[in-house]
Amino acid sequence: MGQNGNMQTAGAKRVRTCIACGAQQGKNSLYRVVRSPEGAVSFDATGRASGRGAYVCSAACLDRACKTKRLDRALKMKVSDQDLARVVADMRDAISRSEVM
Ligand SMILES: [Zn+2]
Repeated sequence: MGQNGNMQTAGAKRVRTCIACGAQQGKNSLYRVVRSPEGAVSFDATGRASGRGAYVCSAACLDRACKTKRLDRALKMKVSDQDLARVVADMRDAISRSEVM
């Protein structure tokens, strides 16, 4: 934090950054993990849940983000192993469903 992120380009697509590998993609191609106002961590399948969100591009990156504590930092809380396991499972579920044709 502490950087002045006030740059806005008119008409530009909203781009999100994977917190693990730094890949930049449109909001819809990244997976969102959200911390609810109550402090519960969950996979946000809709991308619209209220709360503090963090974006990753894959389940592997979510795992990496947790190991490197970037997820904790992005969500400003300690993400427990149980929470992580649940979020990863939900994310893998969503990914496998979206890949089924
Ligand atoms: Zn990534």
